[in-house]
Amino acid sequence: MIIDGKAIAAQIEKEIKEKVAKIHGRKPCLGVILVGNHAPSQIYVNRKTKACEAAGIRSFTKNLSEATTEQELINVIDVLNSDDAVDGILLQLPLPKQINANAALQRIAPEKDVDGLHPYNFGKLLMGEKDGFVPCTPLGIRELLIRSNIETTGRKVLVLGRSNLVGKPIAVLLMQNAIGGNATVTVAHSKSQNIKELCFNADIIIAAMGQPKFITQDMVKKGSIIIDVGINKIGNTIVGDVDFDALKEKCAFITPVPGGVGPMTIAMLLSNTLKSYFQRIS
Ligand code: NAP
Repeated sequence: MIIDGKAIAAQIEKEIKEKVAKIHGRKPCLGVILVGNHAPSQIYVNRKTKACEAAGIRSFTKNLSEATTEQELINVIDVLNSDDAVDGILLQLPLPKQINANAALQRIAPEKDVDGLHPYNFGKLLMGEKDGFVPCTPLGIRELLIRSNIETTGRKVLVLGRSNLVGKPIAVLLMQNAIGGNATVTVAHSKSQNIKELCFNADIIIAAMGQPKFITQDMVKKGSIIIDVGINKIGNTIVGDVDFDALKEKCAFITPVPGGVGPMTIAMLLSNTLKSYFQRIS
C-alpha cells in the first residue's frame, strides 16, 4: 500500500485550522527568518507561510541579505524572542558561510523553537519529556506511521542516517516508551557494515541518507514497511533513497517521493506552532 502523505498532511492541517478557528483574540504566530538568496529556501519558506495562512496561523518573514553578519542575525532573533506576539521562530537553513548555524539556532528561545533544533529541546526529546519541540520531519514520520495504523511496538526498525535533523531524532522517537514508539531500533550510517543484511532483517526501514534509489528490491524482505525521507535531484526529477517502482509491490507500506514525508514536515511545523501558542498562553 502506498502511504499518501499529502492526504494525511491535508487532514492534519484541516484539524489545525479548526482548532485555530476556535481561538478568540490573538491568533498563533510564526516568525520566519530567511538569510540570503538560496532559491530552494525561498520556495520552502513560501510553502510554509502559505500553509500557515491557510490554517489561520499568522506568519511573517524577515528577509536578511546574503551579507548579514552573525551578530546582525542574533539581533533579529533577540527581537523575535522578546516579542510576545510571536509563538514560533523558524530560522531557515542553510545559512551563509560567515554565520555559525549552531550559534544562531541556540540563540532561539527554546520555548519558541518550533523546528526543535535547540539542544534544550533535543535533551527533552532524549528524556521523553513531552513539552519540548521535536524536529518537524521526524515528528511527521511518526505521525505517518500512527495515522496509517502501523504498529511499531516490538518491531525491528532500521534508521538509515544519523543526522540531527532526521536520523537521530526519529531513532529516539521510535525507541520511546510512547504511542508510535516501543520499537527495537538500529541506526546505520555511512561507516556501517552489511547494510543489505540490516535492511533484510528490518520490519520497518526509515531511509534518510540522501542517496538516490539506494534501497533496491533485493535488499528488502517481502511485506516490509519503508518510509523514504530522501529528496534527491536527478536531472529535473526528484527521487527518494528508495527504488520506489521496484519496491511498491513487495512492501506492505511504502511512501512515495514526492508526496510522502515532505508534506508532513510542513503540517508538523503548524502543529508545533500551535503547541507553542497553547503552552505560552497557559
Ligand atoms: P545528512 O545530514 O546529509 O545526513 C545523511 C546521513 O546519511 C548521514 O548520517 C550519513 O552518514 C548517512 N549516509 C550517507 N550515505 C550513506 C550510505 N551510503 N549508507 C549509509 N548511510 C549513509 O542529511 P539529512 O539532513 O539527514 O537528510 C537526509 C535526506 O532526507 C536528504 O535527502 C534530505 O534532502 C532529505 N530530507 C527530507 C526532508 C523532508 O521533508 N522530506 C526533510 C529533511 C531532509 P554519516 O553520518 O556517516 O555521514
